[in-house]
Amino acid sequence: MAGVDRPARGHDVIVVGAGSAGSTLAARLSEDPARRVLLLEAGSDDSDLRSASSPLADASRLPPFDGASYDWGLVEEPSDPSRPPVALPRGRVVGGSSAVNGTFALRGSRQDYDGWAARGLPGWGFDEVLPVFRALERDLDFGDRPWHGDAGPVPIRRYTETERSIAARTYLEAARRAGHPDAPDHNAPDAIGAGPLPVNALDGVRMSTALTHLEAARERPNLVVRPHAQVDRVEIERGRAVGVRLVDGERIDAGTVVLAAGAYASPAILLRSGVGPGDELAEHDIACVADLAGVGRGLADHPMVLFRLVVPAEPAPHTRYQAMVTWRSDRAAGPPDLHLFAWGPVRVDEPAPIGARLGVNVGLLDPRSRGRVRLAARDPATPPRIDLAHLEHPDDAARMVAGVREALRIVATEPLASYARGVEGPFSAAPSDDALEAAVRSEVRTYHHPVGTCRMGPADDREAVVDARGRVYGVEGVVVADASIMPSIPRANTHLPTVMVAERIAGWLA
Ligand SMILES: Cc1cc2nc3c(=O)[nH]c(=O)nc-3n(C[C@H](O)[C@H](O)[C@H](O)COP(=O)(O)OP(=O)(O)OC[C@H]3O[C@@H](n4cnc5c(N)ncnc54)[C@H](O)[C@@H]3O)c2cc1C
Repeated sequence: MAGVDRPARGHDVIVVGAGSAGSTLAARLSEDPARRVLLLEAGSDDSDLRSASSPLADASRLPPFDGASYDWGLVEEPSDPSRPPVALPRGRVVGGSSAVNGTFALRGSRQDYDGWAARGLPGWGFDEVLPVFRALERDLDFGDRPWHGDAGPVPIRRYTETERSIAARTYLEAARRAGHPDAPDHNAPDAIGAGPLPVNALDGVRMSTALTHLEAARERPNLVVRPHAQVDRVEIERGRAVGVRLVDGERIDAGTVVLAAGAYASPAILLRSGVGPGDELAEHDIACVADLAGVGRGLADHPMVLFRLVVPAEPAPHTRYQAMVTWRSDRAAGPPDLHLFAWGPVRVDEPAPIGARLGVNVGLLDPRSRGRVRLAARDPATPPRIDLAHLEHPDDAARMVAGVREALRIVATEPLASYARGVEGPFSAAPSDDALEAAVRSEVRTYHHPVGTCRMGPADDREAVVDARGRVYGVEGVVVADASIMPSIPRANTHLPTVMVAERIAGWLA
């Protein structure tokens, strides 16, 4: 067994958080029967993840789920008082956010990962991460292509022309007639244009990492999955991690602690452990173990707005998410900077006219704004203060406006123009750029992809929190291996990139 330190008692590795990353890490690290792995999850461990009656199984449902508490209940506290606070759903259950998400299965662009390598992070260039993306997937449509895999744990498919809702088909046809190139495989390197969305859902069942990774590993005697175990902090003695402390005071020893609590919780755990900006730690009377200025900073998220079209009713589709258009707002060559996707139709009982709506969402893929996660209090029961800083950079607002205009142009193109009966919401008129920007600013919400709060960087990067293998600077035996370590946000929804990060770091630890 290599890569992790072996204590005399306790566990070899504790993984904190059983989400996209944590379930992947626990499954990979427990492949070696000699390694004792403990997976701690604050939320519950639901057994009926394949049952149609579970909201977690149904890929067409997103939080909030009626009557079920699988969420941390986080709400943003924007530093800009004119921006309304937005809800920040995060899965609190084995499977984490991958158990509540929209199942978009996208990788991002070549330039995303080459950009990581260019920041002095060896091992993260596109050609190095491509084999990991290939190995983690079982692409049911394009598994025979050189850039795809056909034998990995995550099943990925696209709904066929006949399975797609009429509204989704009509949206894609309008986008093509509006000049967007055909993109049958959005995960092909350099893909851009209009095409079916790849999803990690099978027969409408959301394939979270609780199913794709953890399910097959659960029987191993060297892996313990412990739900309802919320970690307060990492216990650090003489500069080295010796275990974790739960919120109820229980201490659990381990040789190595791997944080996979997600982009909001992993920096908060580090801060409560004394790892973070010295002034912030002092504010909360936390003894400083490692003065790392970058903990909680560098928060990047995709901002998003949406509007609805009134469309004819039709049977509910298997998954709401079927039609994706990727687009580059400056029309130059290169990767896209916007998602213009359609979802539904869904039935609405109000407002009038009662009937069906097709949603159209505009999400910015490479925002320049950066927010921050801070401790509100030393008490782990108090949620952290989160400021997404959406649209703080003027360029982000300008590109969102361009994206809304392009989405409205698709809507005005046949066959959608005749199929839909009008646009509902603040973008319905043809306003000036200023009016459109004001509407974008008042409507902006999260596309649910926070990253970068414990970001990777070389040793001479003042705001780097972990090195290129996820090891926290200034402390021995603590690794972060989730969405928080991404040094920039990929031009994609972040589940698959997070699983890739976890697979890569698990490989190095093992
Ligand atoms: C509503 C929603 C829709 C989304 N849609 C998509 C999509 O369609 N496609 C896509 O690619 N991405 C999507 N995402 C984003 C994607 O799911 C996340 O980027 C990804 O799951 C992040 O993985 P993670 O492992 O970093 O964090 P998570 O998956 O959030 O895992 C963190 C885990 O740690 C646990 N935890 C936190 N704090 C503690 C603690 N103190 N002690 C113990 N356990 C703790 C949490 O309960 C959770 O289980 C969506 C996210 C949301 C919320």
